[in-house]
Amino acid sequence: MRLPSRPVKPAPFEYHAPESIADALAVLAEHGDEAKPLAGGQSLVPMLALRLTRFGHLVDLNRVPELSGVERKNGMLVVGAMTRQAAVERSEAAAAVPLLGLATPLIGHFQIRNRGTVGGSIAHADPAAELPAVALALDAQLEIASPSGTRLESASDFFVGTWTTSVGDEELLVGVHFPVWSDRSGFAVDEVARRLGDFALVGVTCGVELDESGNIGRAAIALLGMASTPVRASAAEAALVGANPSAADLTEIAQLAVANLDPPEDIHASSAYRHSVGAHVVARALATAMEDATK
Ligand SMILES: Cc1cc2nc3c(=O)[nH]c(=O)nc-3n(C[C@H](O)[C@H](O)[C@H](O)COP(=O)(O)OP(=O)(O)OC[C@H]3O[C@@H](n4cnc5c(N)ncnc54)[C@H](O)[C@@H]3O)c2cc1C
Repeated sequence: MRLPSRPVKPAPFEYHAPESIADALAVLAEHGDEAKPLAGGQSLVPMLALRLTRFGHLVDLNRVPELSGVERKNGMLVVGAMTRQAAVERSEAAAAVPLLGLATPLIGHFQIRNRGTVGGSIAHADPAAELPAVALALDAQLEIASPSGTRLESASDFFVGTWTTSVGDEELLVGVHFPVWSDRSGFAVDEVARRLGDFALVGVTCGVELDESGNIGRAAIALLGMASTPVRASAAEAALVGANPSAADLTEIAQLAVANLDPPEDIHASSAYRHSVGAHVVARALATAMEDATK
């Protein structure tokens, strides 16, 4: 029996290897929507090889040193777009944002995290990816460079749809500014995947911060795999603020978190399954985050 043949090589493209952000932006400006940045290649290369997409020009960012690094700046943790996911796992500075340390090991396998970048994951905007949900939960600011300058965009405006962000054809994501929460905070990431290393069917990243009296002063919940983008559970967050951590009804709050969502259905899981499991992981993660905050 002959199997139908599928292309496993990308369509021809011209390869560019700029050594600065300015040079990368110049190539993008010259070729417009025919050009695409290449970061770790862990999502883009398979899509090119299977010809799910094609571009006449690839702009390799791997020789642009100014795009990598992790540093504390103005109360934020600033992570360069080309910082490898594995480098974040090992970074002492990144420990200031515990959600990064909890979420990053759940991305694929270590080989993928050795090449995959923080900016690549966020710019790729897969709705089931962990780092976009971390960025959304924490109200991260995305630093975007264009030929006319640099702007900061909030994560809530950045994710537009599946694999779609507000980054234009002539722009580059250059860094992610993650807010650093106080020591009175607790965090958790929880998800359900069919196999270790697979994209999650559904998951949640969350944080709670206690005020001086020990009540919840701030709450952040972002779900993944439940819509075409990561989603904030604002009603559930509002219900948590002011509550005593030991008195909060987490089952009820988790129901609030998924109440208005109509999760996607695919060969891996039905919409109803994602809805039900989504509520379950929210309740479980919130319990873990509360415990973390109060210890
Ligand atoms: C087997 C497998 C399992 C995986 N499992 C998971 C998982 O469980 N969770 C998860 O989150 N991810 C998973 N991934 C994806 C992985 O995390 C990728 O690293 C990530 O999605 C893309 O990062 P990258 O650096 O490889 O980007 P690339 O693949 O190089 O680029 C991805 C997209 O982002 C754009 N882009 C990259 N950098 C920039 C930039 N600086 N500015 C503007 N646009 C940019 C590219 O043009 C491209 O469109 C998996 C991948 C594989 C192969």
